[in-house]
Amino acid sequence: MSEPTIFSRIVAGEIPATVVWQNERLIAFEDIAPQAPVHLLVIPKTQQYANVSELAVGDPALLAEMISVADQLAATHANGEYRLVFNSGASAGQTVFHVHAHVLCGGLTESALA
Ligand code: AMP
Repeated sequence: MSEPTIFSRIVAGEIPATVVWQNERLIAFEDIAPQAPVHLLVIPKTQQYANVSELAVGDPALLAEMISVADQLAATHANGEYRLVFNSGASAGQTVFHVHAHVLCGGLTESALA
């Protein structure tokens, strides 16, 4: 079994995070280094999928649910408009290999994760 990712440790409650929403399969929390006035991460609780491509193949319904949650969070925490970013691969800026959606909103600048 692979080592728990930092996000799995958040799911397990071993590392603190500001959790804004969760259900059985997904959890959303504030990014520790926000790149926008509102910067949330939406992740599956399982670390089975390292990136969005794996998730799209392995559980497309869960990917669709992540996008729906992003939409709802943007409506709750900002004006409903948002940028959704999935970094996929180290050379694309991915540092945590546990699939996650960055939800960026609340008055974006051009540089927000660009
Ligand atoms: P990525 O570079 O796309 O893999 O995104 C990883 C994100 O996780 C970065 O935006 C980090 O700021 C964020 N991050 C890393 N550790 C934590 C943590 N303990 N709590 C919240 N966000 C974190």
